[in-house]
Amino acid sequence: MATQGGIEAPKGTADWLPRQVATRAAIIAEAAAIFERAGYEQIETPVFEAAELFKRGVGEATDIVEKEMFTFEDLGGRHMTLRPEGTAAICRAYVQHGMHKLPQPVRLWYAGPFFRYEAPQAGRYRQFSQIGAEAIGTESPLADAESISMLDTLLRELGVPGVELGLGSLGSPETRATYRIELQEYLRAHAGELSEEVKRRIETNPLRAFDAKDPGTNAVMEEAPKLLDRLSESDAAHLAEVEKLLGALGVDYRIDPTLVRGLDYYSQTVFAFTCDRLGAQSEIGGGGRYDGLVAELGGPPTPAVGWAAGLERIAIALEEEPAAPERDVFVAAVEPAQRVRAAALVDELRRKGLSAELDLAGRSVKGQLKQANRINARHTVILDEDGTAQLKEMTSGEQRQVATADVLDELLK
Ligand code: AMP
Repeated sequence: MATQGGIEAPKGTADWLPRQVATRAAIIAEAAAIFERAGYEQIETPVFEAAELFKRGVGEATDIVEKEMFTFEDLGGRHMTLRPEGTAAICRAYVQHGMHKLPQPVRLWYAGPFFRYEAPQAGRYRQFSQIGAEAIGTESPLADAESISMLDTLLRELGVPGVELGLGSLGSPETRATYRIELQEYLRAHAGELSEEVKRRIETNPLRAFDAKDPGTNAVMEEAPKLLDRLSESDAAHLAEVEKLLGALGVDYRIDPTLVRGLDYYSQTVFAFTCDRLGAQSEIGGGGRYDGLVAELGGPPTPAVGWAAGLERIAIALEEEPAAPERDVFVAAVEPAQRVRAAALVDELRRKGLSAELDLAGRSVKGQLKQANRINARHTVILDEDGTAQLKEMTSGEQRQVATADVLDELLK
């Protein structure tokens, strides 16, 4: 609802109201349990980083770096960017803190806000939240399969409906470089049928043509040579091993030869989970291998694999709001004079670990009982003016008199 003369949250951002915070906290808690069982530890990196990190890490010719970054100059004249994704910063931290000296792989997970200047629509925001996991310092296909399986488990345990996993491979940097030349030649030969944007990026980012939305480009891309058919023997062996392991872990997938992902750092395995309840923004999470990223950021050559999933998209797909929270006790006072007693009792109940509330709005007794119902109190204590108390069990409606001194013991039973 528009406010008159008021200030609203910026376009593409949203407030999280308490019920939404509860949904998202529950998703993160579920993910945290899965991560911890698999030996992943939580990391937090700053919300803003040097703009250079993403230019180098994500790639100059990607959508994110070309047109979606919130970059600003700080008062010291440095170029800063509100982080658009998590992996580059985690690799920066891995290098900065010498984590290559720890036993490998280093397994890390994170959750937090990310920022992209995209056209807002359902499921696509300018501030959104991701949870993600990275296994850094392993080239084993076991790590790819473990990583993919964690996100599969999370979506299954949460009960997200209509999920599909697409799996592909970008091969090694050499495979991709050779294929890139072949694809560029193909695109140049069909330049007249491509969208302006795809044409403009033939030289800088030809693979993105697979993600184009216009029918002309799509028709051209259907006939285009596929990277999956150009994999070297060792690339193909890596993918085959990942497939075998996913089979053994009970993870369903289908091979998607057009899966390219929007970030430059990927090599070998790439994957994306989509959900049919999400409309146009159907990707719920995805990731892959990024064997070159740590070295690109100044660290030693370090293979790694990981993924990120959108919290808002998971919440939309789940569609259910958690039930209103329940409270243990509401303490009502018959006379205003009893409010001091009510406040003291509420305080004591809270100290004993119960959730307890009293009326803060000057309601009549009837109004207070209504309020007890509204907040889903299990018990209501009504303090009478004569120093006694009525204890009411809200679901059964059963009510009995107890001495004030015994109220606490009765409730703790
Ligand atoms: P990416 O970092 O682009 O691989 O995105 C990983 C996941 O983050 C996607 O699958 C989405 O669930 C989520 N995501 C990415 N961009 C947005 C956005 N602008 N708004 C909401 N969620 C997003």
